[in-house]
Amino acid sequence: RLATPVRQLRRTAAGVQLHTDMAVEHYDQVILACHSDQALAILGASASAAERRLLGAIRYAANRAVLHTDEALLPRSPALWSAWNYLASSQELDQRPVSVSYLINRLQPLPFKTPLLVSLNPQRVPRGERMIAEFDYEHPIFDAAAIAAQRELPTISGSSGVWYCGAWNGYGFHEDGLKSALQVANALGCHAPWQGRDAPVTTAAALGRLTELAA
Ligand SMILES: Cc1cc2nc3c(=O)[nH]c(=O)nc-3n(C[C@H](O)[C@H](O)[C@H](O)COP(=O)(O)OP(=O)(O)OC[C@H]3O[C@@H](n4cnc5c(N)ncnc54)[C@H](O)[C@@H]3O)c2cc1C
Repeated sequence: RLATPVRQLRRTAAGVQLHTDMAVEHYDQVILACHSDQALAILGASASAAERRLLGAIRYAANRAVLHTDEALLPRSPALWSAWNYLASSQELDQRPVSVSYLINRLQPLPFKTPLLVSLNPQRVPRGERMIAEFDYEHPIFDAAAIAAQRELPTISGSSGVWYCGAWNGYGFHEDGLKSALQVANALGCHAPWQGRDAPVTTAAALGRLTELAA
């Protein structure tokens, strides 16, 4: 169901309740395929101490992405234009977030020659008439606390019918989102038709669920 934010999750003796603006719905199992801080907000008072500790250990950084056609954010020489273009300041102690411009024409076959760019945290604002759209994203910060928490995630995923997946379970890439989703799907007995073999089942809850299904 699109455009229906889950406001709250409650665990009951009968399963899991999801509260939206329109209804309260009941499920046996719920997969929270959102960021860890969003999952924690949805869990609210029903979060266990371990969920609070582990989901809360993964912090996020705000990043702005700008879609535009201003080649001033690319290297001066077109011969150096690449799919990913890193822009650094000449100031040695620059504390600004990393700035990368993706040249979409190099990443996808586009039916035009005008350079189309997505600049992450642009160090200068693209010229007004070349700006197309702006987006705000949150990226997980994989610091020591987050990596330590990731190792313990299997102890909470699947507990009392609530599972977690998303790119934040790995290194923050699309593959990590897919891998973590497959682990949950496999643990619940679902298999992708193209999946050669199951992703390893690592959680105690998953093993319990598989045993139930096999019975
Ligand atoms: C500019 C940019 C370039 C990138 N380039 C690459 C790349 O080249 N390669 C790569 O692998 N990755 C790249 N990434 C990273 C990648 O896009 C993300 O890591 C990935 O999309 C995260 O997927 P996800 O499913 O974990 O989270 P998301 O895609 O963020 O999905 C989480 C979903 O949960 C929903 N949600 C949140 N709260 C609620 C709620 N209360 N109720 C209902 N739904 C809710 C959100 O609406 C969202 O749809 C890039 C990211 C950016 C911003």
